[in-house]
Order: sequence, then C-alpha cells, then structure tokens
Amino acid sequence: MTSERTRRRMIDRLRENGIRDERVLAAMYEIPRHVFVDPALSSRAYDDTSLPLGHGQTISQPWTVARMSELLLADGRQPQKVLEIGTGCGYQTAVLARLIREVYSVERIGALLDRARMNLRTVKLVTPRLVHSDGRLGLIEAAPFDSILMAAAAPALSEELINQLAPGGRMVLPIGNEQEQYLWVVDKTAHGVNRTRYDAVKFVPLLPGKS
Ligand code: SAH
Repeated sequence: MTSERTRRRMIDRLRENGIRDERVLAAMYEIPRHVFVDPALSSRAYDDTSLPLGHGQTISQPWTVARMSELLLADGRQPQKVLEIGTGCGYQTAVLARLIREVYSVERIGALLDRARMNLRTVKLVTPRLVHSDGRLGLIEAAPFDSILMAAAAPALSEELINQLAPGGRMVLPIGNEQEQYLWVVDKTAHGVNRTRYDAVKFVPLLPGKS
C-alpha cells in the first residue's frame, strides 16, 4: 500500500488533474507521504484527499500541495528562500525542501511541530528550519523571503506578510472563510502588488496565538 506503484499512481493522478511542473511531480514522487500520516491511515496516504492530523488539523490534499508548489515556481521563478505558514505534519515542508534551498516553516501548535520535526528526520530532511510561532506575524528575523506559502485560510491579505516578501517575491495563499475560499497568487513588483485568483480550495482557518 506504500509501494512504488501506489506512489506512481498518485503522480499519474496529479498529472491527469492538471499538474504540469516536472520538478514538483518528481519531488512528490520521492517523498513518502505515508511517513507523514497517522499509521492507522497509511493505506490512504496516496489517495488524493486531505487526512486528519490530530489537534483538529488536516494534512493537505496532494493536489493542493502540488498546485501551490507549482504556482510558487511558475513563470520561470527560482526562489532561494521560502517561508511556509502552517507546518502541520511537515509534508508540504518536505516537498518545498526538495525544490527550494532555504526553507523556514512556522506552526502555532507545538505538538504538531515536534511531530513534523520527527517526520522530516525520518525522510532525512534536516535543513528546513521549524519555528513555533504565530505565522500571522511572518518570521521577521529571517525576512525577506522570495516566496511565502500559507497553508491555512486567512480572511484577508496581510500587510505584514507582504512586507516580508522580497521585491519580485511571490506569496501563494488561500483567502476566505469556512464556506468559500480561493487560492490567490500575490506578486510584489516594483509597481505595487498584483493579485490573481486561482482555484476554489478548502483549508483549515488561520488562527491567532500559539499552543
Ligand atoms: N502543510 C500542512 C498543512 C497543515 S494544515 C501539511 O502538509 O500537513 C494547516 C496548519 O496551519 C495547521 O497545522 C495549523 O495548526 C496551522 N496554523 C493555523 N494558524 C496558524 C498560525 N497563525 N500560525 C502558524 N500556523 C498556523
């Protein structure tokens, strides 16, 4: 159930559903998603579905992880430094670490961050820097970032996060409420901020504070 064939099938399905970036597909083929999910759910680790993580949180659906990663790299971008907000189990963090040299990831739930750290060690990825904090504030001590990827839905775009983007940088994030959310791409250019709306998505909400 966690065999190479099962993984290959997940990649084929991502391709059928419009994911085109070969770098993203290769990264997702290489990272064993079952390591990141609860052992009781590992038979479903390669289904294209989100799964419960505990603490009321979910590991994002593979298609969503692929889509967001692809958007970060699109238009010939080669980001060197990325901030992920909402580490969860660390699966998206692992995919980013395959694609971008410097990865920072913040999570507000300490117990999830500990698990993510363990999961990343299991797949021998030790370079991502994981920080226990409220990602609504970004990560000022490591800013600016070429890319910011947010894995929880915010009601609106935050000025603070745009400030932490490097000139020419890009942020990919879900904006909306429990009922309706869309993926947005926000580019910081010399002339201001460009926003483009993409797919309808479903993320857990961005919450304040840490626990
Ligand atoms: N990329 C993750 C998705 C996890 S779900 C994965 O692949 O597993 C979203 C995560 O965002 C949850 O773990 C949740 O605790 C976290 N989160 C929500 N609000 C946050 C905030 N203000 N700062 C940091 N993390 C936050």
